[in-house]
Amino acid sequence: MSGDDLRKRFEAAFMPNYGVPPVALARGEGCRVWDADGREYLDLIAGIAVSSLGHAHPALVEAVAAQAATLAHTSNLFLHEPEVLLAERLLGLLGGDGRVFLANSGTEANEAALKLAIKYGKANGRTYFVAAENGFHGRSMGALSLTGKNAIREPFGPFAIDVRFVPYGDADALEAAVDERCAAVFLEPAQGEAGVVPPPDGYFAAARRICDATGALFVADEIQSAIGRTGAWFAFQHEDARPDVLTLAKGLGGGLPIGACVAFGDHGDIFAKGDHGSTFGGNPVSAAAALAVLDTIDKDGLLANAAEVGETLAAGLEAIDHPLLKGVRGRGLWRAAVLTGPHAPAVEAAARDAGFLINALQPDALRLAPPLTLTAAQARSFTAAFPTILDAAASAVKES
Ligand SMILES: *Cc1c(COP(=O)(O)O)cnc(C)c1O
Repeated sequence: MSGDDLRKRFEAAFMPNYGVPPVALARGEGCRVWDADGREYLDLIAGIAVSSLGHAHPALVEAVAAQAATLAHTSNLFLHEPEVLLAERLLGLLGGDGRVFLANSGTEANEAALKLAIKYGKANGRTYFVAAENGFHGRSMGALSLTGKNAIREPFGPFAIDVRFVPYGDADALEAAVDERCAAVFLEPAQGEAGVVPPPDGYFAAARRICDATGALFVADEIQSAIGRTGAWFAFQHEDARPDVLTLAKGLGGGLPIGACVAFGDHGDIFAKGDHGSTFGGNPVSAAAALAVLDTIDKDGLLANAAEVGETLAAGLEAIDHPLLKGVRGRGLWRAAVLTGPHAPAVEAAARDAGFLINALQPDALRLAPPLTLTAAQARSFTAAFPTILDAAASAVKES
């Protein structure tokens, strides 16, 4: 079916919450994807920082196919080897001392963290939560209540829990907001959906110290940043500020749906039997995919690749002198190209016409979150083409 046909039928069959995406993708291989009409693109968004190994990676294909052919689902009435290996593997990467809950998505990982924090608060007379303005933690009602982006939060309020929002990156404001009645602080290591906005150096370490001083749980939402995105397994490792609870999802399954909530030390014992659950969470196929992702990142040195190629990408963008381009921010293969005006949709469209998939994340910011397997040559092919893309976007903006 042609892309146009698919778009028409999509529009008729689906709720309008996504609008109609501009491209129907048909297949992928490595960092390249092809649309339904056979056009090829370099994929610099990886399904929103998800396809960490690129597309159709043999290790992922083999793990998923073999597991599906062996046992695809057990529910949590039974346990299975891939989930045990995965939980142990995650704890190993995190220093050992904790426990894991497996979910299917980012928002579900945060729901688990929130329920843990509510239970912790009830046991200790702690009644409120702190999160950041413009933060994003997911679309389900608990995670949404922690989400500081008013446009997506307010239509669905009021919310059942008391969340106080502080300006992101301001350690003094955080300190002033957190006291002995605060159950938990939820923070991203850099704000992904807000435009890949990193905090000042030392912010995560300050959050750790503030939570230690008051007894509030420090919950790090690493759903977008974990599993090599920033060049480290976990972004908190750059500041050595380990949270009490960590949530992750996107890149973990390499495209298969899986999320995880990890609680360290005694916090791993907060849930009692029956407190939480998920029929699909940690299912054998997704767990096998995640194990293949972790193995491949290790074996192929993809943390170092993300750090190095991320620098190549950033340096290439920084070297461009163009009236539409202000600069670049972020770390590893998690970057935003920042524009001088609200032209991100026009630049996204011009990039697509030139064969590059990037994401107009904010009116003035484009997200680059390619597979961790991106090569330096692929990064340079984009930065070499970007001035022409910006020119095309500038003329499109003028004409409209
Ligand atoms: C994507 C994201 C979520 C939500 O994940 P879903 O899998 O879409 O539910 C939560 N927090 C952060 C930081 C994210 O980037």
